[in-house]
Amino acid sequence: MKAFEWSNPTNITEAVKLLQTAAQGADPDEAPRPMAGGQDLLTTNKHYITRPTRIVNLKGIRGLDRIEGNAKRGLKIGALATLTQIEENEEVRRSFPGLAEAALSVATPQIRNLGTIGGNLCQRPRCWYYRLEDVICLKKGGSQCYAATGENKYNAILGGGPSFIVHPSDLAPILLALNASVAVTGPSGNRQIALEKFFTLPSEGNLRRENVLQNGEVITEIQVPSSRMAARSTYLKFKERSSLDFALSAVAAAVEVGTDGVVKQARIVLGGVAPVPWRAPEAEAFLTGKKLDANILAEAAKLALRGAQPLEKNAYKVPLTQTLVRRALAKVGNVATA
Ligand SMILES: Cc1cc2nc3c(=O)[nH]c(=O)nc-3n(C[C@H](O)[C@H](O)[C@H](O)COP(=O)(O)OP(=O)(O)OC[C@H]3O[C@@H](n4cnc5c(N)ncnc54)[C@H](O)[C@@H]3O)c2cc1C
Repeated sequence: MKAFEWSNPTNITEAVKLLQTAAQGADPDEAPRPMAGGQDLLTTNKHYITRPTRIVNLKGIRGLDRIEGNAKRGLKIGALATLTQIEENEEVRRSFPGLAEAALSVATPQIRNLGTIGGNLCQRPRCWYYRLEDVICLKKGGSQCYAATGENKYNAILGGGPSFIVHPSDLAPILLALNASVAVTGPSGNRQIALEKFFTLPSEGNLRRENVLQNGEVITEIQVPSSRMAARSTYLKFKERSSLDFALSAVAAAVEVGTDGVVKQARIVLGGVAPVPWRAPEAEAFLTGKKLDANILAEAAKLALRGAQPLEKNAYKVPLTQTLVRRALAKVGNVATA
């Protein structure tokens, strides 16, 4: 690990000042970085993937771990709220069940006790080529994505190229399904970013980062609006090891169903299959105005995966994800399945 300066600010203004770099556009992996639970940042530092000159510890900033709100007002979740706090929060469980399920699906109690929602959204990809210290892949400034033709069982089937990472966060898909946004403070002030616009594809020319945050910017809060879909939301995740693992595939789904049983609106977001949490707008549009039954779910599942382009070793993700889409929709739509 490269030596770094350690700072302990007690408020956001101070934190942002400490995160500022002299050079605008400095290498994002060498610029000062904020640290929350530290579970990912310290790992990437140990492997020289990130080499920040300074680490700015956010945990001394009071009040950044609050969870406030309810079904009517929506939720405001401080960036330092841990996954355990989210999973155990009664209001989240009752009114935003998919969010509680997603938090609970992460790793182990120890990791959830330390991991924060801000860190979870900003954690770096798990592709093993990216994580290997000696491999300088495309995302580390190299010239090649080794997963494209190598060991790509865990990589992207949607939205890949030129890098084929998948986004590792379990909270990102459900927060996107719930139409959440993040409040950010940085050297140029405050801004609000819809999660829809937060994550970036490798093809969008931002290969070294996975989101639109600039050096020096810190997420302070995650805002989940009140929505008629929130109470009927779920997160289903398939992992190779049931004890703890990242998603091979996951589905966040939320629907609003009228008293006549007709879907008024639907959101489907896939996890573990694309470099960003992947929305399925065709499937969502198809569901709107329909009464859910097994055939409709099967058709929606097909549409959600339309455009999938598996690599040599990950075609299994297509039927796996279709099954998860069907199951998630059956759950939120109360549809009995065989
Ligand atoms: C063994 C293991 C298994 C895991 N399994 C899963 C899993 O199945 N699903 C899953 O979703 N996650 C998983 N995780 C990730 C874990 O849940 C944490 O979310 C993750 O480690 C990051 O949280 P943290 O608070 O420790 O962030 P940190 O390590 O402190 O930060 C992570 C990154 O986010 C940046 N960052 C942190 N906070 C902010 C902020 N407020 N604003 C801007 N940038 C910020 C940091 O600079 C760093 O780049 C796993 C982690 C481990 C170690």
